[in-house]
Amino acid sequence: MSKPGIVIIGSGFAGIGMAIKLKEAGYHDFVILEKAPDLGGTWRDNTYPGCACDVPSHMYSFSFDLNPGWSRMFSPQQEIWDYMRACVDKYRLGPHFRYGKHVVGLEFDDEARNWEVTTEDGAVLRANAVISGIGALHIPKFPEIKGRETFTGPAFHSSEWDHSVDLTGKRVAVIGTGASAIQFVPQIAPQVGELILFQRTPPWIQPKPDFAFPESARKALALPGASRLLRNGIYWTLETRALGFALDPRLMKVHEAMARKHLARQVPDPELRAKLTPDYTIGCKRILISSDYYPALTRPNVTLNTDGITEIRERSIVDANGVEHEVDVIVYGTGFKVTDALQEQRIIGRDGLKIQEAWQDGIETYLGITTSGFPNLFFLLGPNTGLGHNSVVFMIESQVRYVMSCLRLLSRTQARAIDVKPEHQASFNARLLERLDPLVWNSGGCQSWYLDEHGVNRTIWPGFTFEYWARTLKAKRAAFDLIY
Ligand code: NAP
Repeated sequence: MSKPGIVIIGSGFAGIGMAIKLKEAGYHDFVILEKAPDLGGTWRDNTYPGCACDVPSHMYSFSFDLNPGWSRMFSPQQEIWDYMRACVDKYRLGPHFRYGKHVVGLEFDDEARNWEVTTEDGAVLRANAVISGIGALHIPKFPEIKGRETFTGPAFHSSEWDHSVDLTGKRVAVIGTGASAIQFVPQIAPQVGELILFQRTPPWIQPKPDFAFPESARKALALPGASRLLRNGIYWTLETRALGFALDPRLMKVHEAMARKHLARQVPDPELRAKLTPDYTIGCKRILISSDYYPALTRPNVTLNTDGITEIRERSIVDANGVEHEVDVIVYGTGFKVTDALQEQRIIGRDGLKIQEAWQDGIETYLGITTSGFPNLFFLLGPNTGLGHNSVVFMIESQVRYVMSCLRLLSRTQARAIDVKPEHQASFNARLLERLDPLVWNSGGCQSWYLDEHGVNRTIWPGFTFEYWARTLKAKRAAFDLIY
């Protein structure tokens, strides 16, 4: 049994950002446990055609490691992944990685006051603190459709794209029209023989202001202060979108008008346009951006089916009108099991408290980072810290700074562990849910993965990101029980 001081789980933006800041602060006794054979989290897993970030790259990157060389306003997956690797090399994090280490259990030892971290291969580590950077979007969700397993052709999820399947000339069914599907549909549409897109709910889509940075622009962005200036401009532009999200859903009308105009301009056929027009307030689901999705749907080899699916057979999909569509390949763009990522973990805290018991009335944390009964366990991109309007990397950085502040609190007080007080957590959550209640995610008239099975929003931060930044500046001693 080895004894690192700190265990980080996951090597996406969260895990890497945390590791960089630990190292900068002089912590060297930490490991990053990564279930896969390589780093990168979602930017390693998602390799579907057209995968790119829908947040501008100059904002979707670390504020302490600006990259003037981004090729585009919205850079593709490979480039983001390369950026993450470059950060790992630059900050010499390599020796801290442990690949193929899938964490299957965390148990707090009340006697020793530290965590026992068990990985799938049976290894056990002891750690003073555990920082979970596992993210929410990595367990593929397949729809529960009768006969799904009986399909004999290739069938795969967008996040597990099977590049060995040649789609050229094939009849391909795509199920789902979310953020992933709207990126890969335009890419595969010209290649396939026939594409049937099964849409359950149309997304709101705005134009994507994407462009390549010419060499001269990249040179200019390398000048002192230039990339920072651009980043700040993007930050505040995106932040204005929170006005509608965080203050009053009626302000979303401007965004809706923009999306309607986009649809009208790109889809002349009124019948197709009607099928693509959402009936809920924009922002209730993630607002998507694309300039090539609607044109792809107007291609003669693409059909939009909105009838619903009743059954999948060996070589076909049957819609609710009883029409059987023969297909060669099925691609599932059906999203992720969001709450399972945290809730199904085997995490046992103080006095044998299971996380499922602690969260039996719903996931609750303090600032999305700590949860009562689980000392020195920190979540990055935890509950209610997701965003509909800005870059989550900004949220991750706030959380990393907060965890560093908690670690400083530990060393300052000489405590072995800190555990957030239940009353602090309760009042934080009561206020959070009260704020979320009138906002667009709850009141916009849609079903989304932001809401749990009881319709409670456990995903989104209800305000401006600078508010979150301010609230996570420093860990308040009074919010925690100190365990000596
Ligand atoms: P998603 O947004 O959850 O979309 C899933 C799609 O599948 C929805 O259209 C959904 O329809 C549909 N669906 C689910 N179950 C279905 C069923 N049984 N029958 C028919 N349709 C079904 O998933 P995603 O596109 O993978 O994106 C997930 C999240 O990943 C995004 O919200 C975003 O946060 C992130 N993402 C980000 C980027 C980026 O560029 N930054 C890119 C891709 C993804 P309903 O709407 O009716 O549920």
